[in-house]
Amino acid sequence: MSARADCLFCRIVAGEIPATIVHSNDVTVAFRDINPQAPTHVLVVPREHHANAAALAEESPELLVEVMRAGAAVAEREGIADSGYRLLFNTGPDAGQTVFHAHLHVIGGEPLGGMAQ
Ligand code: C5P
Repeated sequence: MSARADCLFCRIVAGEIPATIVHSNDVTVAFRDINPQAPTHVLVVPREHHANAAALAEESPELLVEVMRAGAAVAEREGIADSGYRLLFNTGPDAGQTVFHAHLHVIGGEPLGGMAQ
């Protein structure tokens, strides 16, 4: 799927909107969330536009695996792999998804309560 001019995360991937990039490769980009919910809060996005995690799974399952692998690499790099971390995809409005380009939240750095972000 090609980049969308009206998609915030496509524009971050393209370098048109600034973000603090912590990891990138040919297929994914990871950057710090501007409103962190924990000491580590990074978003991993596929470079390709997919509306949410479910669409990504249908349209490009191998890319979903790459997003998960990048999340694990971010956790290693952030030093939270051993203590544990949360990987979260908000999918759809009721889940609180606000940006409709699939993104994996990598959250950790302190004990996390409950199930929600
Ligand atoms: O899962 P959801 O769609 O709610 O997550 C979107 C996330 O994108 C939010 O956590 C928000 O803080 C983050 N964001 C960001 N940089 C932007 C706009 C939103 O990190 N420029």
